[in-house]
Order: sequence, then C-alpha cells, then structure tokens
Amino acid sequence: MAEVTLDEIVALCKRRGFIFPASEIYGGFRNTYDYGHYGVLLKNNVKNQWWRSMLQERDDIVALDSAIIQNPKVWEASGHLAGFTDPLVQCLGECKRRFREDDLREEQLGDENAEGEIRCPVCGGELSEPRRFNLMFETFVGPVQDESNKAYLRPETAQGIFINFKNVLSFARKKPPFGIAQIGKSFRNEITPGNFIFRTLEFEQMEMEYFVPPPEAGKWHEYWMEQRLAWYTDLGIRPDMLRLRAHGADELSHYSSATSDVEYDFPMGWSELEGIANRGDFDLTQHAKFSGEKLEYVDSGSGERYVPYVIEPAAGVDRAMLSFIIDAYDTEEVEGRQRTVLRLHPRLAPVKAAVLPLVNKDGQPEKAREIYEQLRELMSAEFDTGGSIGKRYRRQDEIGTPWGITVDHQTMDDDTVTLRDRDSLEQVRIPASELADELSRRLKEPWTSPKMGAPA
Ligand code: ATP
Repeated sequence: MAEVTLDEIVALCKRRGFIFPASEIYGGFRNTYDYGHYGVLLKNNVKNQWWRSMLQERDDIVALDSAIIQNPKVWEASGHLAGFTDPLVQCLGECKRRFREDDLREEQLGDENAEGEIRCPVCGGELSEPRRFNLMFETFVGPVQDESNKAYLRPETAQGIFINFKNVLSFARKKPPFGIAQIGKSFRNEITPGNFIFRTLEFEQMEMEYFVPPPEAGKWHEYWMEQRLAWYTDLGIRPDMLRLRAHGADELSHYSSATSDVEYDFPMGWSELEGIANRGDFDLTQHAKFSGEKLEYVDSGSGERYVPYVIEPAAGVDRAMLSFIIDAYDTEEVEGRQRTVLRLHPRLAPVKAAVLPLVNKDGQPEKAREIYEQLRELMSAEFDTGGSIGKRYRRQDEIGTPWGITVDHQTMDDDTVTLRDRDSLEQVRIPASELADELSRRLKEPWTSPKMGAPA
C-alpha cells in the first residue's frame, strides 16, 4: 500500500517551490516541468552524491560531458534510428488520439503482449493497426531543413561515452576494468502520460559505462547491481521500498544480454528507477564498424588486444529525486496540529540549517544573521525573519531542513542558541561558537529514515 499519493507530492512540490508545470501560464506543455529554487538545490545534491560515489570514492572511473547533438551516424550505429521505437495506435473513432499499444494491452487485457481486441480508452472507438514510432526528437543543423541536415537530440547519454572511448583511453591511463561516467540531459518523444516527473520529454540521466574483460562481465554486473542498490539505501531510501527485477528475454533491449532494474514502490506501483545492463561488446563493435576506427583495448605489456564488455548502470536524476521526495514525505500530529515534513537524508536536503530569530527585535535578527553568515560558508543555510516562529518551522519542515537554530533573548545574554532536530523535534541548547562543528559532525554521520519500520 502506498502511503502518499502523487497528488500530495505534486501539491507540496508546487507549494514549496520544488517543481512547477512548464509553460504553466500557457496551460502547460505535455510531460514537461520546470524546477524551482529548492528543486534545483535538491537535484544538484542528488547529482553530487552520484558523482561522489563514482569519482571521489574510487579511482577507476573518469568523468565526461559529451554534446547533446552528435553526428547522426552515432544513432545509426547504436541502433536507435532503426530500433528505438514504440508501437503506436490511433483512435479511428471520434477522438483520433494516439496511444501506445503495449500500454493499452496491459490496461485492458492485463499483459502488454496479450492478444485480443483493444479499444480507445477515451471514446471507445476502434483503433488503427500499430505503427512503429521513433522516440528521438529530430532537428536540423544549419539553415536548410532537408534530410542531409537532419540531426537528433540524444535519447541517452551513453553513446557519447562509447564514441569517446578512444579519446579517454589515450589520456586516462586506465585498463579494464575502468569506467566513464556522465550526467546530462536526454530527450525522448514520450507519448505516455508521465506520472509527474517520472516520465518527461526531457530529463537528466546519470550513466556510467564500465569496461571489463569479457570473461568478467557477469561478475561486474552483479557487483554494480549491489553498488547501485546500496547508493539509494545509503541516501535514506527504505530498503523494503526497493527491489531488483531481472528483465525477461522478451523485454531485453537490442543491445543487452542481461538487464536488471532497480525499482521503487511508487504511488502508481513498482516502477523503474535505474537499469543495470550487460551491453556486451555491442556498442564498441558497432561504432568501430560505422566509423572505421579501432575501438579496443591493447595491453602495452602483453600486447593482448580485445573489445571490452560493458556494464552500464543508467539512472534518471528526476526519477531518483521523485523517489527521494516520496520516501521522505511524512505527516504527523504535533501538539494538536498536523505537520508535513520531508525526512530527507541531510546530505540531500536542499537547506541544511535555518537560522531564525525568535522575535524580530532586541538585536535578535542581527545576531541570527551573523550566525547564518558564518554557517553558509560551510553548508547551504537560510535566514528567515518572516512570520511566527511556528510558521517558519513548518516551512522548513516541508522543504526538509534537518536543523533549525533559534536565536532568543538568552542568546543575547550568553551566546547560546537552541538547535532543533527536524525528525525528533528534540531541542538542545549549545554555544553558538560550537554550531559549525556540531552540524558538520552530524552531516557526516550515517543516517537512516525515521520512517523505517513505521506502519504504512
Ligand atoms: P522506461 O521503461 O521507464 O521508459 P527505459 O528502460 O526506457 O525506461 P533507460 O533507457 O534504461 O529507460 O534509461 C535509463 C534511466 O533513465 C531510466 O531508468 C530512468 O530513470 C531514466 N529515464 C528514461 N526515460 C525517462 C523519461 N522519459 N523521463 C524521466 N526519466 C527517464
């Protein structure tokens, strides 16, 4: 049973400036969203934690930032031009809308591959025969809009990595197993309605291609499944909300010999957060064939040469962010009042500390601002004087700020402040001079969700 609805999450994200529908004043635009202030901060933290786990905490992965629009040959070689398609049917009745055939079979017949008649879910009309529809967005480079100038917005970041394999090998002094990691926007002309930011036309991916000696591919596939699952739980997602699901033979992409998805129990049911695929040598071999370049590893000592296999953990920034928000969302009654709180891992929280003067006079705002200016050197902090203290805390709870610091009349006498914990609501009084050390210590501590074990 889901504990929070997607509508509640959408409402909180809008109310607190995380995520807005894109082009809202014009009535919105398909599956697109804009990120507001706290959304940007949270998204940056998600990406930073991914980079941290891929780069800072190990020495076998290097970073890359490749172009969104590449030579169209890339997509021919990768198989996306021919194969990156969904089956579409159009209503032949009144409404003329288009749907994904596999979605309708799943909804109406219980299985996306089931045989049997399906009808338009909007007007009940008959449906056309399915037509393959390519998900890549097309564009034209240069002033002339003809076939020879056609290009594509990338539908995944991975190909930018494969086509740079040789460049990276020539400078990085790495030998398999080693990885190349990239975060960036990808674009897909999705026609399925999106479930908020779960499925959008443009989204950010965090992809890492791990190049390994072919006999070791199975072992590294297992390794990366474990690592990636642990990334989510270390950042506070409750383990019973996550599972690994191996793809059946009929689900595998054209390039993959084995894929497992990390799935999260979203309000709409178990859905993919990240795919971890064994891509074999498909991509390097294809690009070698289409470009005429040798894309292989040559051992300088033994002279041994081979095309490495690739293990790919491919995650979505936006989907990860949605799961972090959903998993953190909580409501409780405190002293007769309803409180909504985002119990985010402190490392993900958009704001780590809010400094609040109890009253807006008697030197308290000036003192609070001084403390805030010291803290913001170390971590993202806020200073807020507007409204009653209760209201200001409610705001911080809803954006997931783990620590609140109140400056009161006693502060003016002895330079101590109260430090409030978002989750336990415990308040301790400590000297203002110890705040920075105390919060830095708390930020480094392992953290588990207080929702763990709580009844759903
Ligand atoms: P789905 O089956 O949900 O369409 P996929 O299997 O096609 O996803 P991949 O190609 O494996 O997705 O992409 C890797 C990751 O990129 C996904 O696990 C997801 O987190 C993210 N992603 C893919 N498509 C979208 C999208 N339209 N909107 C948001 N994130 C996406």
